[in-house]
Amino acid sequence: MADGKNRNGNDRRCSFCGEAVKPTEMLFQGEGGATICSECIEHGHGIIAEETANRKRNSFNITEKDLLKPAQIKAILDDYVIGQDSAKKYLSVAVYNHYKRLLHLSSDRSVEVELDKSNVLLVGQTGTGKTLLARTIARLLNVPFTIVDATVLTQAGYVGEDVENILTRLLQAADYDVARAEYGIIFIDEIDKIARKGENTSITRDVSGEGVQQALLKILEGTVVNVPPEGGRKHPEQKFIQIDTRNILFICGGAFDGIERRIASRLNTRAVGYGTASRRSVVDKDNLLQYVSPQDIRSFGLIPELVGRLPVLTYLEPLDAAALRRILTEPRNAIIKQYQYLLGMDGITLEFTDGALDYIVKKAITDKSGARGLRSICEAVMVDAMFDGEALGGHLVIDEKYVEEHTRS
Ligand code: ADP
Repeated sequence: MADGKNRNGNDRRCSFCGEAVKPTEMLFQGEGGATICSECIEHGHGIIAEETANRKRNSFNITEKDLLKPAQIKAILDDYVIGQDSAKKYLSVAVYNHYKRLLHLSSDRSVEVELDKSNVLLVGQTGTGKTLLARTIARLLNVPFTIVDATVLTQAGYVGEDVENILTRLLQAADYDVARAEYGIIFIDEIDKIARKGENTSITRDVSGEGVQQALLKILEGTVVNVPPEGGRKHPEQKFIQIDTRNILFICGGAFDGIERRIASRLNTRAVGYGTASRRSVVDKDNLLQYVSPQDIRSFGLIPELVGRLPVLTYLEPLDAAALRRILTEPRNAIIKQYQYLLGMDGITLEFTDGALDYIVKKAITDKSGARGLRSICEAVMVDAMFDGEALGGHLVIDEKYVEEHTRS
């Protein structure tokens, strides 16, 4: 029956290419008697693969002309984040290079030189603006962005989230557009919490330590990962989606509590020997974080390979009273501006006296709640005014006494 006829003598022809199909070859039949041969399926598959690759190449539709220079990126960060000049500078350069790298990948020269990715590690106390920086960067770049907390990550098979789920989140942030997700930014918070534990913490496997670091390392390095689109393990029937992590920018953040002590002891050890006097005189003991090095991060329990994959290392300064005061009023979406806008919608103008602002800052410092505490203090101050603004007349001045009365606990 090599003539393309089946046992009943019917024609076995592909409705697409019109060719007769041998009985030994596959012919798929659809509704209404339409057929397609395996060769046409393979051909179609090839076209789809090429189309997808093209879409990927074009999905990052930015030209060299649109490329923001590091100083311009920093200027935008300045609009939203107070202080933290070092972190802003490093991040601006990392993002600029990330962009360049993506442009380079879509150019014809990508085979000549390979540009490495510059993942970033931000070290700084909680509430100093690490997440805010990463979020502002993502908005600026208009790429999918997600925040994950490293503390919930566990090695596959343990209770908690598999490391792959990080990518599920990014995929969701990209509305399941794989090509866009592959150029996204992932902010991994509390990376210090997956540090390798001491030798004798556990005799069983180190569930949240080295295993997770190894899994994370693979993703950071760049690999194709099978990602469960719904995340978790609740949907065992879900089909995996493959995501290439080569071009995803990772920004990691951690408080690394006590790292100053390690930095101090490293600086002290080094200070013995050549140039002791000059080195001692330049060390700024009040801000040791500025001397943070990969070595300190390693001694904290992050494996060297992982530290090596986070080549851009920078720090965020603790926020002092002056910085907190500026945070209240200066950023583009400063807390006070937000309340002024909200009350403005009810036709009320709102004013804070200097004394009131100083009092809020002082309270945030005594509560040890830092920048994060500013908002909750302001909420307490503003609740009455927002509840019944009309009763206040058209203008509300909040002074120190008003704040004191509304924040007494
Ligand atoms: P981290 O990630 O370092 O723990 P966040 O970035 O989440 O801290 O900061 C918490 C909140 O505090 C932010 O949403 C922001 O409102 C405020 N904040 C913190 N640091 C700054 C800063 N340097 N400039 C402006 N606002 C800040």
